[in-house]
Amino acid sequence: MVKTTPIPLYNNLSGKSLFESSSPRFREYRRLWEERPKSFEPGEFPLFLDLEVTNRCNLKCSFCATTYFGPEVRRGFIELELVKKILREGRDNNLYGVKFNDRGEPLLHPDLAEFVAYAKDMGWWTSTSTPTPTC
Ligand code: SF4
Repeated sequence: MVKTTPIPLYNNLSGKSLFESSSPRFREYRRLWEERPKSFEPGEFPLFLDLEVTNRCNLKCSFCATTYFGPEVRRGFIELELVKKILREGRDNNLYGVKFNDRGEPLLHPDLAEFVAYAKDMGWWTSTSTPTPTC
C-alpha cells in the first residue's frame, strides 16, 4: 500500500497545515480522500466538487485549451440558481467541499461571492484560484 504524505504547501493563513485541522469532519474528509482511490471504492457521491463557474478567461496562455476554443465552444457563466441546486444536492449527499473553478477565470463571474457565501452557509470548505494578474 502506498503511503501518502501531506504536501507542506497546503497551509492556512496562520501557517498551520490543513491536514492538522482539529475539525473531525475535515479529518474524516481527508481520510476518505486517501482511502477511496486505494480501495477503488468511489462511494455514492463525490467527496469534493470542482464546479466550473465560467470558461471565460481574460488571459490567453499558450498551453491552455481555452485559448484555442473555437466558435463551436460556447463560453459563458453558470447561473446562480443552477449552482444553488447543485450545492443543495451536495448538502443532501454529504459533500465535503467545493471549488469554484476549473478552466477560466472565476473572478469574472458576477455571482462568485454569492456562490461562496451560499456554500459557506452550508458549512463547507470552499476554494478557488485565479490567474488574474494583480499588476
Ligand atoms: S489563465 Fe488559466 S484559464 Fe486562462 S488561459 Fe491561462 S491557463 Fe487558461
